Amino acid sequence: MTDVVVIGSGVTGLSAALYAARYELSVLIIGDMLGGATSTAWTVENYPGFEAIDGYDLVVKMKEQVEKLGVALSTDKIVEINKNPNDTFTIITETSEEIESKTIILAVGAARKKLGLPKEDQFSMGKGVNYCTTCDGPLYKGKKIAVVGGGDSAVKGMNLAAQYADKIYSIVRGDAYKPEPINLVRLQKFIDNERVEPIFNATVLELLGEERLTGIKLSNGREIEIDGLFVEIGAIPEVVLAQKLGVELDQYGYIQVNNMMETNIAGVYSGGDATNFFGHFKQIVTGCAMGSVAATSAFKHITKA
Ligand SMILES: Cc1cc2nc3c(=O)[nH]c(=O)nc-3n(C[C@H](O)[C@H](O)[C@H](O)COP(=O)(O)OP(=O)(O)OC[C@H]3O[C@@H](n4cnc5c(N)ncnc54)[C@H](O)[C@@H]3O)c2cc1C
Repeated sequence: MTDVVVIGSGVTGLSAALYAARYELSVLIIGDMLGGATSTAWTVENYPGFEAIDGYDLVVKMKEQVEKLGVALSTDKIVEINKNPNDTFTIITETSEEIESKTIILAVGAARKKLGLPKEDQFSMGKGVNYCTTCDGPLYKGKKIAVVGGGDSAVKGMNLAAQYADKIYSIVRGDAYKPEPINLVRLQKFIDNERVEPIFNATVLELLGEERLTGIKLSNGREIEIDGLFVEIGAIPEVVLAQKLGVELDQYGYIQVNNMMETNIAGVYSGGDATNFFGHFKQIVTGCAMGSVAATSAFKHITKA
């Protein structure tokens, strides 16, 4: 019987495992993609302690740190979690392994929505297509970029990126932005000084360029030369396992947690991009914070502290 099974080997899961191991609990991490989204992040410039670090290198450091504490890592995929009559859990993997655990930490992340255009995957390998303006916007200092999306993440991202980029073309499918009002007030300043150019009622039809992105073609017929494109059209949390187990979701379809990262099921905790905590702020530092709290709650549950 393992004390804690952490599902997901992204930064949230690795941080949870670090704390749980230091509480001297037995810990197993099961994640089918080491590092999760962070391993695809290229240069990370906002994780404290590192001026700039490759996302993959950062997660390898985190992995080595937990392994030194005796945490076991498996790259299996979980297909089912069942609650047992004695309030423990049975985790079933794709390779039909069954693992018993006293507690579970769901650190399963969320997939960023894509445009679904040809060359998108090719250009997203550090060649101009990005999915996190807050994370990678500052890398485009003095350049021209376009941001697709009119929600809060897109607008917040533009407010940050506008301090670096020379020009931002803001492509919105509808005829208005839908962010938190304060973020729109901030964006208006950049629209007024023409740093941001809103283009409403438009979608991206084509990504231009051979080796890397050089421009975009819009549904209104316009072609724009840019150095980078940011796709900010939402994320889909990985909640299938949680739902089958009976974990409650919030109104946006994310795992519902309280400020101790507890779900509605005793012994089941969550954190990171799969939850909607910290107001959708999906970052490495917020994921790590939530992972540490989830592990603390698991420790208290096991020791009845
Ligand atoms: C391109 C990009 C760049 C980014 N850049 C930055 C940045 O510069 N700075 C910053 O702070 N943030 C950045 N972010 C955001 C940051 O990477 C995320 O907030 C963070 O990765 C969330 O971590 P997580 O552990 O919650 O989820 P994830 O990283 O998504 O990890 C989820 C884990 O769960 C596993 N999993 C899911 N379901 C199962 C299952 N059924 N069985 C087994 N395993 C499962 C996955 O394999 C993965 O290991 C970036 C994100 C992207 C996409």
